Amino acid sequence: MIIAVDGPTASGKGTIAQKLGAHFGIPHLDTGLLYRAVGYQVQLNDGDPDSEGDAVAACGFADDLLADPALRSEGTGSLASRVSVHPAVRSALFERQRSFATQTGGAVLDGRDIGTIIAPDADVKLFITASVQARARRRWLEMTGRGVDVQLADVEADIAKRDARDINRADAPLKAAPEALVIDTTSFDREQAFETVLDAVKTALALD
Ligand code: C5P
Repeated sequence: MIIAVDGPTASGKGTIAQKLGAHFGIPHLDTGLLYRAVGYQVQLNDGDPDSEGDAVAACGFADDLLADPALRSEGTGSLASRVSVHPAVRSALFERQRSFATQTGGAVLDGRDIGTIIAPDADVKLFITASVQARARRRWLEMTGRGVDVQLADVEADIAKRDARDINRADAPLKAAPEALVIDTTSFDREQAFETVLDAVKTALALD
């Protein structure tokens, strides 16, 4: 069974995908982390994230990098969004994601193009979204909770910029697959969002 979870930044798709993996007992891959690793490796190499050559050279990052907390920062998220526009970066990361998706026993992957490009054959496709304001507020609460000094308006502007880059890029833009179940979590807390998604997945898979 393959479950594809796509959606914009800070929509809650990562937490939802992780919980779905735990619920169904299948491994979960946060594919954004791969793009973050490439973006961060470009920076370590003193390269330019907007240069396709520099970004491709960074695709050979060491696996240890995936556990580096620096990957979780907003700055690395922005670098990830810049390197992810390069078609050669997307193809360099394709096989790793595809083989994860097709492993025996199934998998859940979250990202931007799982239902459209990586696993168009997924058994369930979800597109998790929420308003820019709701996503910015969640991200801001999470950041200030960690002691980061940041203004809500700046977080909102950054999210809007990332949305625009992800939606408007020519290769594998962020969009819901035609058959995706679109779930808007704007008015939900984390538990409500997961319960709604789980019900939708069970219905789609015709489980109890
Ligand atoms: O999901 P996350 O915020 O970690 O992703 C960081 C960036 O990586 C996104 O803004 C997007 O540009 C890129 N990405 C992508 N395709 C994916 C996952 C992430 O282009 N499947």
